[in-house]
Amino acid sequence: MIYDIDNIFAKILRGEIPCTKVFENDHALAFEDINPMTPVHVLVIPKGEYISMVDFSLAASDIEIVDFNRAIGEVAKIKGLIQTGYRTLANHGIHARQDVFHYHVHVVGGRDLGGMINKER
Ligand code: 5GP
Repeated sequence: MIYDIDNIFAKILRGEIPCTKVFENDHALAFEDINPMTPVHVLVIPKGEYISMVDFSLAASDIEIVDFNRAIGEVAKIKGLIQTGYRTLANHGIHARQDVFHYHVHVVGGRDLGGMINKER
C-alpha cells in the first residue's frame, strides 16, 4: 500500500482540517478523537508519512520513534490517566478495521474499559 497524502490525518498535519490539540513535539502530534468512544480518547500520530505500526517501526528514524512514544506518555499524563489506567491501541488493515491510513495510536481511558478484545465473531 502506498501512503495517501490526502488522508484525513495528513490534512490535519498540514492545517487544512482543524483539530483539538492535546500535545505536540517535533515528530508527533496528539489530538482529540472526533468521535470519542471513551471519556478520554486521544489520537497520537507521527508527523512523517507512515501507514502502520510495521511501516513506522521499521522505517522511522530513532528520534521519530522516541518522540512518538514520549508523546503517548505525555498524553496519559496530561489527561490524568496515570492513576486510573488507560489503554493504547493501533489498528492496521482489514481485520483491525483501520479507517485512516496514517499510523496512529488511540489512547483511551476515563472509565473501566472492559475486556481487551471482543471475542464475538
Ligand atoms: P482507526 O479505525 O483508523 O483506528 O481510527 C480512526 C479514528 O480517527 C476514529 O476513531 C475516528 O473517530 C477518528 N477520526 C476520523 N476522522 C477524524 C477527524 O477528522 N478528526 C479527528 N480528530 N478524528 C477523526
